Amino acid sequence: MAQPPPDVEGDDCLPAYRHLFCPDLLRDKVAFITGGGSGIGFRIAEIFMRHGCHTVIASRSLPRVLTAARKLAGATGRRCLPLSMDVRAPPAVMAAVDQALKEFGRIDILINCESVLSEAPAAPAVSHSAGAAGNFLCPAGALSFNAFKTVMDIDTSGTFNVSRVLYEKFFRDHGGVIVNITATLGNRGQALQVHAGSAKAAVDAMTRHLAVEWGPQNIRVNSLAPGPISGTEGLRRL
Ligand code: NAP
Repeated sequence: MAQPPPDVEGDDCLPAYRHLFCPDLLRDKVAFITGGGSGIGFRIAEIFMRHGCHTVIASRSLPRVLTAARKLAGATGRRCLPLSMDVRAPPAVMAAVDQALKEFGRIDILINCESVLSEAPAAPAVSHSAGAAGNFLCPAGALSFNAFKTVMDIDTSGTFNVSRVLYEKFFRDHGGVIVNITATLGNRGQALQVHAGSAKAAVDAMTRHLAVEWGPQNIRVNSLAPGPISGTEGLRRL
């Protein structure tokens, strides 16, 4: 059976890549990846590009996505458009999607992979060491109202906002694929994670609703719930 390539710590491209799938699997497709400047989103962008895909990586920090885009394009020879956008702001999401469509003329795949991690220091009333899953640990009784809202805004509303904009601007007429990166921590209930578990459970429910509603329009919607992933900021903080 094919083995995954050895991983690297941090947001750098793999020194070597043995294709797990047909190298042309995504040739000339275009993927729009929120949070694509770091962690899991960065690696998804790299693997997609190594299989022929062009990418758009979008997050709040332009320097972050600019640096990542340079690395990704240099390592893979495919195009990567870095865009600054906050998933909580629909007008910014609309502008970013417009820019991506102007650049590439199409978007085939949306990966919702933003994470609340970089908000964490300001968010919890009591800040404990951050946990895996791009997240922070905090007892429910000490979690500020604003912290809970921030996580829901980024993870849940953010996923809806970007999906809804892409639906309206491209997927409704052309079909497409949406993958929401969630987590397993809410499946059984876990201490110190009521914010992240609730937000990800809502995204999983959203996935099922949208899959039923948009599936007949040739839009495939799925969630992918990783366990702790080495080399990511979430796991480093843990
Ligand atoms: P990460 O490296 O911290 O990446 C998160 C990205 O989200 C950053 O690039 C950040 O960029 C962006 N972001 C944050 N707030 C944003 C906003 N408001 N608008 C747009 N972009 C925003 O996190 P990760 O560990 O790779 O996690 C990625 C996803 O996988 C998350 O959904 C996480 O919950 C999930 N997950 C992770 C693990 C794990 O072990 N790491 C396990 C299970 C699930 P800016 O700061 O530039 O905005």
